[in-house]
Amino acid sequence: RLEARSISAWFGDHLVLQDVSLQMPAGQITALIGPSGCGKSTFLRILNRMHELVPSAALAGEVLLDADDIYDAGHRLVDARKKIGMVFQKPNPFPAMSIYDNVVAGLKLAGVGATRSEKDILVESCLTKAGLWNELKDRLRSPGGGLSGGQQQRLCIARSLAVKPRILLMDEPCSALDPTSTRVIEETMLELAQEVTIVIVTHNMQQAQRVSQQCAFFLASQGQPGHIVEHGDTEAMFGDPIDPRTHDYVNGRF
Ligand code: ATP
Ligand code: MG
Repeated sequence: RLEARSISAWFGDHLVLQDVSLQMPAGQITALIGPSGCGKSTFLRILNRMHELVPSAALAGEVLLDADDIYDAGHRLVDARKKIGMVFQKPNPFPAMSIYDNVVAGLKLAGVGATRSEKDILVESCLTKAGLWNELKDRLRSPGGGLSGGQQQRLCIARSLAVKPRILLMDEPCSALDPTSTRVIEETMLELAQEVTIVIVTHNMQQAQRVSQQCAFFLASQGQPGHIVEHGDTEAMFGDPIDPRTHDYVNGRF
């Protein structure tokens, strides 16, 4: 299980998240929702130590993966990369690299070596999990950039699975895709959730309801930094939200 404890985040002297705590249970999909600029992507980047790559960025709080704080001095960045994968809004496979090498690149990014036969097995299993194997098994040597947008995004999912992460973070993974590809990715997510804990940022309320069991509503307003207004069971949050602002947001009145 992944847990954020009292996270505050700054860019320079701009406080963008204040005292955010959230538990993301294993085997569940957690959806982060909220208006543009409320700090959802920042929060996601804090969960895999990408936030610290911004020179002006500062952080307070803890991110616990099981009992370990990934920000502890003893933890190396590369270890966080192996445990926590990330998929972005815009599909970003290496366009000139083959489909096969794109998946294997997931290992290299995390500094993991593998033999030829280990790679073959890995490519098949990751492409299968991403729902691409049958579609692409006969063209593994063609470039990743030649795939459709939805296929490219699934290739990115396959690449992120190469190191067998415990956690998969997805920042609006379907917002650049058509409805059909979106549904395919959602099905992939629901299957993956049995072995990987997923946290997804989405602006699509139907998608949050279709895929997540737990939901957190972020808001930054009236000079207040981003914070969680309400979180809990997705059905309850959409059906019977506690805060009137959550009610307005999930009903598209924002
Ligand atoms: P959206 O829904 O539009 O993607 P978001 O909820 O993901 O929005 P963030 O991208 O996390 O919001 O941004 C939160 C705040 O942090 C915003 O005020 C944004 O301008 C600021 N911010 C984000 N990245 C940086 C950065 N690299 N440098 C400075 N400020 C940043
Ligand atoms: Mg964002």
